[in-house]
Amino acid sequence: TKCSLDGDFSVGEMVPFGPIALNPSSGVLNYGQGLFEGLKAYRKTDGSILLFHPEENALRMRIGAERMCMPAPTIEQFVDAAKQTVLANKRWVPPTGKGSLYIRPLLMGSGAVLGLAPAPEYTFIIFVSPVGNYFKEGLAPINLIVEDKFHRATPGGTGNVKTIGNYASVLMAQKIAKEKGYSDVLYLDAVHKKYLEEVSSCNIFVVKGNVISTPAVKGTILPGITRKSIIDVALSKGFQVEERLVSVDELLEADEVFCTGTAVVVSPVGSCQGR
Ligand code: PMP
Repeated sequence: TKCSLDGDFSVGEMVPFGPIALNPSSGVLNYGQGLFEGLKAYRKTDGSILLFHPEENALRMRIGAERMCMPAPTIEQFVDAAKQTVLANKRWVPPTGKGSLYIRPLLMGSGAVLGLAPAPEYTFIIFVSPVGNYFKEGLAPINLIVEDKFHRATPGGTGNVKTIGNYASVLMAQKIAKEKGYSDVLYLDAVHKKYLEEVSSCNIFVVKGNVISTPAVKGTILPGITRKSIIDVALSKGFQVEERLVSVDELLEADEVFCTGTAVVVSPVGSCQGR
């Protein structure tokens, strides 16, 4: 019950996908005490299976757990559980180039609370699903809407951790954007309302000449694992990478704009509100 990472998780079992029982007064249902992760398993050309950087997802869940007053699995427990779940479902890992197996770990306050407090018990589960492209455009350029009414996160909030409530707050903006024909929503900072933050489920990069810029991780955006990987690749290829405040005006002057994320991989941005 204390805000501590020390959890005593007993080893669970592999069960067929289906509904789970949950206490009506569980912390997750009443106070949003939940975190998730998203990672992928890919089939390599030799038939073997590759998990992309699972330790980084495990670490991000632990950092999030601290913010959400939850105990979390150790990195070893998380990675081992992810591997076992993939192995048990290996027939669902698509052939190379035909998609991937999306892995969804969930950590939730499953114990009962009535007054506002961290739950007394936690449950960690993992489910998987084969996935293809995230956007209907596939890997063709997407069209974003720059959101000026709704914010995804504010300083001091929980924008930098993968808590379930962050996604509840963007459902409406995303629904409106999709109805207007946009692929997704690009959020601006809640203070100045002019610096790029991130897209609903991915980070954003702006390319100008040899310089690749992306919003710095300062508490309101999710530190994407794909983002970090792309920064490393860009640096190794001789690009200059700047993590800083990126103004919305820079989008229109950019040579290229792209988004990164486990689900979207690297998706090119073709336009923002038609420009
Ligand atoms: N921002 C948000 C809000 C996200 O949900 C995600 C997806 N996890 C990302 C960025 C990209 O993170 P990653 O590269 O680790 O998938």
